[in-house]
Amino acid sequence: MKYYSTNHNAPDATLAEAVVKGLAADNGLYMPYQIKPLPQSFFDNIDRMSFQEIAFEVAKGLFGDDIPADDLKTIVYDTLAFDAPLVEVTPDIYALELFHGPTLAFKDVGARFMARMLRYFLAGKAEGKTVNVLVATSGDTGSAVANGFLGVDGIKVHVLYPKGKVSAIQECQFTTLGRNITALEVDGTFDDCQALVKKAFLDEELNSKFLLTSANSINVARFLPQAFYYFNAYAQLKRLGEENEMVVTVPSGNFGNLSAALIAKRMGLPVKRFIAACNSNRPFPDYIESGVYSPRLSVATIANAMDVGAPSNFARILDLYAGSHDAIAAEISSVSYSDADIAETMKQCYRDTGYLLDPHGAVAFKATEASLERGETGVFLETAHPAKFKSTVDEILGTDIALPERLAAFTKGTKQSVAMTTSFADFAAYLNTAAR
Ligand SMILES: *Cc1c(COP(=O)(O)O)cnc(C)c1O
Repeated sequence: MKYYSTNHNAPDATLAEAVVKGLAADNGLYMPYQIKPLPQSFFDNIDRMSFQEIAFEVAKGLFGDDIPADDLKTIVYDTLAFDAPLVEVTPDIYALELFHGPTLAFKDVGARFMARMLRYFLAGKAEGKTVNVLVATSGDTGSAVANGFLGVDGIKVHVLYPKGKVSAIQECQFTTLGRNITALEVDGTFDDCQALVKKAFLDEELNSKFLLTSANSINVARFLPQAFYYFNAYAQLKRLGEENEMVVTVPSGNFGNLSAALIAKRMGLPVKRFIAACNSNRPFPDYIESGVYSPRLSVATIANAMDVGAPSNFARILDLYAGSHDAIAAEISSVSYSDADIAETMKQCYRDTGYLLDPHGAVAFKATEASLERGETGVFLETAHPAKFKSTVDEILGTDIALPERLAAFTKGTKQSVAMTTSFADFAAYLNTAAR
């Protein structure tokens, strides 16, 4: 299948080209020309299938033209070596727990899938040439991508993160790995990190010398596989007889996860409506309300993986609805919550239900609770394990939550990072030596 750029000013790409390039030459994001609905028989049987089986069927729909079934099956099964259970929080609201992977956050799914797909496309090609993966992170992307790509031959990963704006536990997950992973501590915001990465992809000189690619959710190999777990959520609801009028709430920052949910719906997943739940970074809620999109600088919140002021996947959402605000607002509502709202929700939920929300999941839980109507079943994404934000969670709830073993292991490593400014010249100079 061919992929086009959302800016419609770059040549079409094959899947392999789209994955290796990341961003299209016109600065647009790649989208598949067709999103094929899955057959009714798939939905009839979905409640009898495992997560891996479901994901493989979805993957065939998305990538089956480009990757032989056996290879695709290996990529999918290797990626999903962990579960994504649906947990009842209130009688009508379920948490889809996406934090059972190696770095305890949902980005493991996309990052692991992308690492495997990239390795598949590069096997035997690009000989002698290192692929440099550039990734800007507000916390969780860096750890997921670094761990997903750790030790993969022929690939170097450069993680850019905003100094002092990620949690200590997040930071150690990508600064202690070594090997083919380098962390760059940027004296700026996440948006500055993202701007440096985007600029590097558009820089002719760097691109003539090095093979640069992105592992942000702009990459189709990271963003599309996120569709898998929405089908798995539906399968679990169907097992409970609760699948009618499913409402899906996605805690959103860069909007890759929500974009994948919208793709899932186009593939036939019966979702009644979506809620995009945001922290105080509210360009999307404002757009839904006013029809005017105004990206801005991000503000720091306690749900910091969602601190994005100019969400890159907004272009994909616009594209999916041919730019129609009415069509978007008919399917997606959106709300913004302050840090105080988030903290209050975490307390209230823990007190009333015993369920421990992380700050990101709390944004989504509150949005679901606030808007769910009679007859609807809410599924909100719990995108990170609360222990990833231990100090925030403990401070709000007065708890002392245990670090899962996988997380504790990271904290024992030695932090290594390269100091970086927000100047593109400095970043280019770094790449000129480090990307060889
Ligand atoms: C990245 C992230 C989000 C936001 O996901 P987007 O796809 O960028 O909208 C939400 N929660 C957590 C824990 C994250 O790491």
